[in-house]
Amino acid sequence: MESISIFEIIKVGIGPSSSHTMGPWNAAGNFLRQIRTDHQIQDVKEVFVEFFGSLAKTGIGHGTDIAGMLGLAGENFKTIDTTKITEKIAVMKVANQLNLGGEKLIPFVYGEHLILNKKRSLDFHPNGMIFRAIFDNGEELIQDYYSVGGGFIATREENSYEKHCVRTLYPCHSGADVMRNVEKLGLQRISDLIFLNEESWRTKEETEREALYIWQQIKECIYKGVNKEDILPGGLKVTRRAAAWNTKLLGDKVYKNIDEWFQLVVDAEETFTTINKWVSCFALAVNEENASFGRIITAPTNGASGVIPAVLMYAQAFTDRTSDDDIVRFLLVAGEIGTLFKKNATISAAMGGCQAEVGVSSAMAAAGLTEIMGGTPGQVLMAAEIAMEHHLGLTCDPIAGLVQIPCIERNSMGAIKAITASNIALESDPTKARVSLDQVIQSMWETAQSMSDRFKETSEGGLAIAVNVAEC
Ligand code: SF4
Repeated sequence: MESISIFEIIKVGIGPSSSHTMGPWNAAGNFLRQIRTDHQIQDVKEVFVEFFGSLAKTGIGHGTDIAGMLGLAGENFKTIDTTKITEKIAVMKVANQLNLGGEKLIPFVYGEHLILNKKRSLDFHPNGMIFRAIFDNGEELIQDYYSVGGGFIATREENSYEKHCVRTLYPCHSGADVMRNVEKLGLQRISDLIFLNEESWRTKEETEREALYIWQQIKECIYKGVNKEDILPGGLKVTRRAAAWNTKLLGDKVYKNIDEWFQLVVDAEETFTTINKWVSCFALAVNEENASFGRIITAPTNGASGVIPAVLMYAQAFTDRTSDDDIVRFLLVAGEIGTLFKKNATISAAMGGCQAEVGVSSAMAAAGLTEIMGGTPGQVLMAAEIAMEHHLGLTCDPIAGLVQIPCIERNSMGAIKAITASNIALESDPTKARVSLDQVIQSMWETAQSMSDRFKETSEGGLAIAVNVAEC
């Protein structure tokens, strides 16, 4: 009966993958802490890390190896200068050395000390990894970790997700719980309930500050994305498109900074086609940043990190719900929906395919938008249900294991579906709905369990094998 904060679901991250980049990075950081608990970093002779299953099969494309190395070097993905990542890794590979925890240079030969074992999976979870340290006195420290989605890690004994759990004032483990608590307390809005529950972690003012900080990061990420023309890293030679699209949409208008750019977007003509193009462009911008190790907002994962920014930016630019309070309430409700999927199904593509990533983010965004557009609590949950209903069964089949195709465009689709789901819910009577949010979450989980592993972030099915990478 415990809950996690919405800021465990919507948080600052680094691309390209929460499960395959941030999870291994967090595991490496955790392993460093374990070493420091009973030993000294100075006493470490060598460190080995082996990635298994999905982490190995799509590890290069997802930067799993890079994340493991930087994590062992004591780097923090929230603060690292993302423009220096390639250089740092190149230095380690050329020197065959790693500065463990930023304290001690140890030999580290890529392919020997870091192995991507594509032939084996650990039985506990498809995203398994084992870290091993050998000390000068011959002692060894071995720990297995599992990346369970959204950057969370687990060991067989402990789940990092559980560490963040507390019992809130009004626990919500299902859509039905949300409705029950809202009605019991006589609240008009779901966000009022979440404000109360988030007080288990921090004051209301702190929650508002954190949400607005997230929004600031979202805006900056989109701005960076629409201003970079480049080829994405990884070898697929995918060209960034958001910048060219931004230029085309703005015509001859010029801007010097983020505020001027945003004002130009707000002043843009508001035809269906133009708004559709802007929303798609916002999502592309974020996911292009994500694909190139940029700083993004994980929501609930990195592969799906463009959906919520695109929909929130849509609300800010093209509706009249533009206050700080609207931003905060949007994120609170979106985050709460994400926690329901995390508790009752999965937000890991390795467990549930893309329905668990873009499907969940679309449901989150649809609910957040409906909340600020004046939807009733029933309509908010209905919007989330509709958005997920039309993502059920969506597979994860990234070409060459890179979070680029189909991932980048898929975020635009998730955002557009979220807006449509919200509009349908706002025009519907939720008491007449035949499918509840809880039922669709259950269906999503059942679908996830029945789905072939080929479609769960292994790059062994779908587009990942239909497309000849060499021709890309
Ligand atoms: S296909 Fe979907 S789930 Fe798979 S990596 Fe891409 S965005 Fe993530």
